[in-house]
Amino acid sequence: MHDFKFKNNELHCESVKVSTIAKKVGTPFYLYSHHTLVDHFTKIQKAFKKIDPIICFAMKANDNLAVLKTLADEGAGFDIVSVGELKKVKKVGADPKKIVFASVGKTEEEITAAIKAGILFFNVESLPELEEINAIAKKLKKKTQIALRINPDVEAATHAKITTGTLRNKFGIDLQTARHILNEQKKYPFLKINGLHVHIGSQITSSAPFIHAIKKVIDFIGVLQKEGIPLEYLDIGGGLGIVYHDEKPQTAQDFANAILPYLEKTGLKIVMEPGRFIAGNAGIFVTQVLYLKDNGFKKFLIVDGGMNDLLRPSLYDAYHDVVALKKSNAKKVKMDIVGPICESGDFFAKDRIFPQLKKGDLIAVMSTGAYGYVMASNYNVRGRPPEVMVRGNKYAITKKRETFQDLMRGECIPEFLK
Ligand SMILES: *Cc1c(COP(=O)(O)O)cnc(C)c1O
Repeated sequence: MHDFKFKNNELHCESVKVSTIAKKVGTPFYLYSHHTLVDHFTKIQKAFKKIDPIICFAMKANDNLAVLKTLADEGAGFDIVSVGELKKVKKVGADPKKIVFASVGKTEEEITAAIKAGILFFNVESLPELEEINAIAKKLKKKTQIALRINPDVEAATHAKITTGTLRNKFGIDLQTARHILNEQKKYPFLKINGLHVHIGSQITSSAPFIHAIKKVIDFIGVLQKEGIPLEYLDIGGGLGIVYHDEKPQTAQDFANAILPYLEKTGLKIVMEPGRFIAGNAGIFVTQVLYLKDNGFKKFLIVDGGMNDLLRPSLYDAYHDVVALKKSNAKKVKMDIVGPICESGDFFAKDRIFPQLKKGDLIAVMSTGAYGYVMASNYNVRGRPPEVMVRGNKYAITKKRETFQDLMRGECIPEFLK
């Protein structure tokens, strides 16, 4: 499932001992396994081989250049959400005909850049956005393809902050409006509206919510067909869940078995946007113990990484497995594993039974390859950590640790304060 394993009681990433990397790059840092990324991508590709979908990695999950290059080399497309992501993914030679662009708030600059780049299609989230894209395409004299992101109004059975497919959420277009747009296509001569898109949320561990959504989409496609509206693409979004704790998520093959019959029925070219499934378990966050504190009521293992580096526990109450890089014989007790940031929400684990490690010992927060580094900030004037990739017995820093100079770039004291 992933390539972070203990050999001789020491955590390795593929063939490299993780503590060796820690010595070289310092802590904290993110570490990615090239092989795991390829393996997860290939698993989806194989499971869906029959329909040969366009698999667009949702790069908001992990936009490290080495990760993007790894996946582009495997033939992945990309699901982007900003012009920054577009520019970044172009650097790894991604095929624009495999790029899809979602976001409820695309700006004129972003739309212009994406049309010029010749992306596969925009996933459009509202009528005003559709009109804006038509106007910009007209200016550029370039017809552009559109998939309407529909909001199927289904619950995804996941954390509220990562549910996107109900009408309480800002995403997508309700079915009635979508139908209206498709029937009035002539009003948008610079658009070819030939796709539907649906993404109902993230970390979904069973196929039921997907099937529920797909069935709604199929019914909708049936209505459109009766009205003589042809479609070419169906983009089923991302959202496949992974193991963080004791989840029993479906495998790519389980998911394919459950959903393929429905997808085949549509006769449309399928696009998928997995993010977490590919990157989540392909990364870890390594940090070092500073202190073990006991306030008489509770114990705290204080480490040098913080919520500014890894926000998921604080933002989503996410559970992450935590392991000592070197298997420890120290007595195990209940403790919180926390960072140095001045927030009570700065934690990686709560009430965890964990060995009483000592200063300098190294630990890894597992399954942090998705929505980890990308959400890091400079809160508390902390430089973001480096990102490292392992491939076989090699490793390289793919993004350097931010220095104080990096943090100060662009900041000044105004004249009127001098
Ligand atoms: C976030 C997102 C994804 C990826 O979600 P995962 O849960 O990481 O697979 C795919 N599509 C869209 C539109 C998204 O917003």
